[in-house]
Amino acid sequence: MTKVEEILEKGNFEKETITALLLAGEEDSGALFRKAREIKKEFVGNRVYFRGLIEYSNYCAKNCFYCGIRSGNSRYARYEMTGDEVLEAARYAWQNRFASIVLQSGERDDEGFIAKIEQLIGSIQDMARNELHITLSLGEQKPETYRRWFKAGAHRYLLRIEDANAELYRKLHPNDRHHAYQSRIDALMALRATGYQVGTGVMIGLPFQTVSDLADDLIFFRDLDVDMVGMGPYIEHQDTPLYEHRNQLLSLRERLQLSLKMVAVLRIMMKDINIAATTALQTIDPMGREKALQAGANVIMPNLTPVKYRQDYLLYENKPCLDEEADQCKSCLETRIQMAGDTIAYGEWGDSKHFEKRK
Ligand code: SAM
Ligand code: SF4
Repeated sequence: MTKVEEILEKGNFEKETITALLLAGEEDSGALFRKAREIKKEFVGNRVYFRGLIEYSNYCAKNCFYCGIRSGNSRYARYEMTGDEVLEAARYAWQNRFASIVLQSGERDDEGFIAKIEQLIGSIQDMARNELHITLSLGEQKPETYRRWFKAGAHRYLLRIEDANAELYRKLHPNDRHHAYQSRIDALMALRATGYQVGTGVMIGLPFQTVSDLADDLIFFRDLDVDMVGMGPYIEHQDTPLYEHRNQLLSLRERLQLSLKMVAVLRIMMKDINIAATTALQTIDPMGREKALQAGANVIMPNLTPVKYRQDYLLYENKPCLDEEADQCKSCLETRIQMAGDTIAYGEWGDSKHFEKRK
């Protein structure tokens, strides 16, 4: 029996064993992926939930060192979708029975932005007769703002911790009160207290990040008892401060493999949560998301942002599907998901089973 098989059989996931699984070579990873697939089938089924992704705006008040749309990058034209454009994208999701959308944006906390999001959530719910579930990914906000948006009709919130190691977090962000690690943790707590299904996640393969940090990230998700996780490879962007450390990065292929192992180990550790197969995986490998489905992920976020804005929402380089309309994206995904052995759960909200149980 190999070391990986032994750990999987004992099912004892602590720092040391998690690290060993993440370090497994390509041959040994086979057993890890097989186990994750079995667990996915047993606990959440071979079904994939769609979340139509609407990249609402690239205005951002923050300046994270890794992100292409950081406020310090003047290369992109800044945009904000109109209310009609958001409603049209949401209507597409509703009519195509996606059952769920994600509203994502650069971070702003001014009253104009807060009120607009509140109003948009209400309009989407009116248009779709409360049949769409809404996930927000709008960054750190005051507890009162989270409450307003929840009351308006949002259900889930994604806020990645980016890296659970506080020291590393500080290396990835400016050292000021707008980018404090503790504020991110407080925001996650406030989301939970408000009643959202809470998702978090990290980037994988960041400069300065070790496999031991990644094992801690998985333990962080478990300790926080999250309902959903979205994590994917870090991909460099030349207009960001982190770009100068590109020489110390793992190769893209290694980052992909490590991301797939993170998904698989997480599925085994947290059997009934929702795990996203993220777009960044597809940047490295056209079949990256489908590989993540085979490693235990069960959520995909087809992009519904109008094509004219996509060039300006480049978080990282070589982001895929910049010129694909929603229909093309949907039919290409259907074929690929079938190839991965899953079926798309059209018309189902796909709430995290973990969240349902905790309720
Ligand atoms: N502004 C909100 C926030 O930061 O929480 C939501 C939008 S932000 C663009 C969504 C996610 O993009 C971040 O949480 C981060 O993990 C990811 N991201 C940003 N730059 C990235 C990069 N260079 N490679 C991979 N993911 C990146
Ligand atoms: Fe803004 Fe989010 Fe990018 Fe940070 S990761 S710069 S908060 S959009």
